[in-house]
Amino acid sequence: MDVLALGELLIDFRVSLVAEGAPQMIGSAGGAPANVLATVCHLGGTGQLIAKVGRDPFGDYLERSVQAFGIDTTSLLRDPARTTLAFVQLAADGERSFSFERSPGADTQLQANELDPTWFEQARVFHFGSLSLTDNPSYDATFAAIELAKAAGCVISFDPNLRPPLWRDLEEARLRMQTAMAAADIVKISDDEVLFLTGQDNLDAGMNQLRSVLPDVRFAVTCGPQGAIVDTDKGRVRIPSLPVAAVDTTAAGDAFLGALLYRVTRNAKDLSQVIRDDELFVDAVTFATVAGALTTTKQGAMDALPTLPEILVHLPA
Ligand code: ATP
Repeated sequence: MDVLALGELLIDFRVSLVAEGAPQMIGSAGGAPANVLATVCHLGGTGQLIAKVGRDPFGDYLERSVQAFGIDTTSLLRDPARTTLAFVQLAADGERSFSFERSPGADTQLQANELDPTWFEQARVFHFGSLSLTDNPSYDATFAAIELAKAAGCVISFDPNLRPPLWRDLEEARLRMQTAMAAADIVKISDDEVLFLTGQDNLDAGMNQLRSVLPDVRFAVTCGPQGAIVDTDKGRVRIPSLPVAAVDTTAAGDAFLGALLYRVTRNAKDLSQVIRDDELFVDAVTFATVAGALTTTKQGAMDALPTLPEILVHLPA
């Protein structure tokens, strides 16, 4: 198994508000860890999802959807709570705003005692995000899973993926995400999240702080159309993105991370190499920027993911 991911699997409703008439919504399978796995599988890798959905038609739809991507659903559990729903509104400038139906959502109901250690033994990478950190019991379950993953020798990947409406208290969000980063080997983080988590007012200062506080963590900092930034032994490397006509940025970050993890699982025999080897990591981030860019050229999340040949055509042979 290339990547085992834990976290939310939910319905993303894209909401169009028109000046007159009722709001129009189109629903599709979403949730950042699920999108990451869909990317890994779409590119030819293997992925398994630890998640909870409701015993409702939305849960049935989600199970079918992720299975259609080839994601292993052995660890997809059902809960009496309802499947979590997310509503994504696109502003005229392409910026997204989020709201959620989650009181409580099934995604927060995962319990530590439901984790099966055998899921972790076969995985090379264990990935998680921050939606499972907002509430209990999923907060405790996430940290129990990190322990199982470390014991099994997995490389740990984390995406802070800040969604302010889901937190009662942003200071708690900051503390919990900082704890999660410290437990990870690879962190994909957006430029805004660097500022939020460090309290700095410019990206360079924020990255310097992350590097000094967490010197053993590999950060890939995403900057939308500007691509990504990585710190190496030779200094800070800016990796430009592919210029594209973006129509919907949903899941660009998840496609970026899924592609990054796919690339490192293909190119590194021993994954701990990724944390030390600058060339390997920069190559994976370059591959990931193309995947992220291509995802923005189509509407939706999982439906917008590029194939391996579509990415490779933009990279030197
Ligand atoms: P999220 O918003 O889900 O947290 P993110 O902020 O990490 O994700 P972005 O920075 O928006 O994600 O996108 C990830 C990557 O996708 C970027 O690093 C870049 O390579 C590519 N990308 C995103 N938007 C564009 C764009 N408009 N043009 C070209 N590339 C883009």
